[in-house]
Order: sequence, then structure tokens, then C-alpha cells
Amino acid sequence: MTPTPPAGQLDALDASLGVVPAAGDRRRHPAPAHLVFFHGPMDCGKSTLALQVDHNQSRQGRHGLLLTQGDRSGTPQISSRVGLQRAAVELDADTDVRLLVRDRWAAGHRVDYLIVDEAQFLTGEQAEQLAELVDESHVDVYAFGLTTDFRTRLFPGTQRLFELADDVQRVQVEVLCWCGLPGLLNARVVGDAVVREGATVVVADTAPALQPEATPAAGEAAVRYQVLCRRHFSRGQLGPTPTGPGQLALR
Ligand SMILES: [Zn+2]
Repeated sequence: MTPTPPAGQLDALDASLGVVPAAGDRRRHPAPAHLVFFHGPMDCGKSTLALQVDHNQSRQGRHGLLLTQGDRSGTPQISSRVGLQRAAVELDADTDVRLLVRDRWAAGHRVDYLIVDEAQFLTGEQAEQLAELVDESHVDVYAFGLTTDFRTRLFPGTQRLFELADDVQRVQVEVLCWCGLPGLLNARVVGDAVVREGATVVVADTAPALQPEATPAAGEAAVRYQVLCRRHFSRGQLGPTPTGPGQLALR
């Protein structure tokens, strides 16, 4: 007996992707592949988890392809704050992920699974391509990305992965606001002020962990990111003040 996935759910997914599976296709593949999306705020350990998943998979003899976005180093990689790193393939908005995998196959490489870091930067179309790889080519996909941007809105890639993934998990390593409450929101900070308008992506977005205080050009205020709880995001409060809540004001 093989477990039967909920048919309605799969049909809905197929319909949304405009893909009709061949009759009997699933029977040849008793273990269906999965699209799993892990998300959280900055510095919650997503890249560390991505590399851990890759390690666990490859230890079982499976072959993976690591993808990332926004890496301008020239030697794209997935790196974590605890010192792990692995070479990765750099995506841009025009990359067709299906072709990328097929090219690897054509070159004689195995690709059993994908690790996709910085998945918040995927286009909706690329998220759909990942789902198609899962359903039609039985490639497991593990995607990792930020939940919301500095305006507290879902990133486009994140939103589409929420809609399509078989499994969506919030990364469980807690990032704390300075007040000690769980920090879930990524504040963009220019000078000493929280900024809530502007382009979704600016340069410092791509390496918030490595460049918490990017060096500003002459005459420009530094753009940095800070994880805050919802209340302190709303108030734009970046740290305790002498007369802050719970403290006595000196008169
Ligand atoms: Zn707080």
C-alpha cells in the first residue's frame, strides 16, 4: 500500500500550473517528491539549515544542486554565520530553473534535489517552475527565504511558495528583538530611523548577515537591517531609551 496524496489538492495544483500528469505517471514513482519552504526573519539560521539539509541528503548518496540569488561575489555560495559554506549556482530573474536542471542532466550529472537559498527573491514564475520539477521530474526542492520585507509585506517569491509548497515551516531558531520578544520583522534602518517606503531590494539586502552596517558612500546615510518585534517595528524604536517603557524618567 502506498499512501495516496489528497487528490483534490494535487489536481488544484496541477490546474494552477497548467500541467496535466500522464496517466499512471505516479505509479512509476512510489515516493513522490516534495516542495518544502522554510522561512523566517534575517539571521534566523536559514542558510545554516539549508546546508544541514544538503549534508543530510548527500550523506544518503543523493545529489543536490544548490541555488542562490543576489550573490555578487563572483563565486556564488550559500554561507552561514556559523562558518559553513558551499558553492552554489547564481539565479537571476530570467533563469528558467527547469532548464537549469535539464542542462545538468544533459551534461550527465544527477540532480535528486535542489537547495534554494534566498528564495524570497524568486519570481512567482520560478516558484511555479520549482513545483513543476517536483511533480513532473520528481526532484525534491528545499527552499529557504525571508518571510517579509521591510514594509512587513511578503516577498513575491515567499508569497508564491506559501501558495504552492507541500510543506511550509517557520524556522524555529528564535531571533529576539532588543526587548527580548521574538523578532519577526526586518526593519530597514537609515541613520537612526526605521524606513517603511522605498524599493523592495537595495544592495544591503543581499548580505544583511555579512554587512550589518554597509559602508555608506560619501554623504549617504548607512542602510542596515535590524530584526524587531511588531510593537517596536511600529514605533520605530531601535533600542531602549533612558525614558523608555518600564524605566523611570529622571526629572
Ligand atoms: Zn521589541
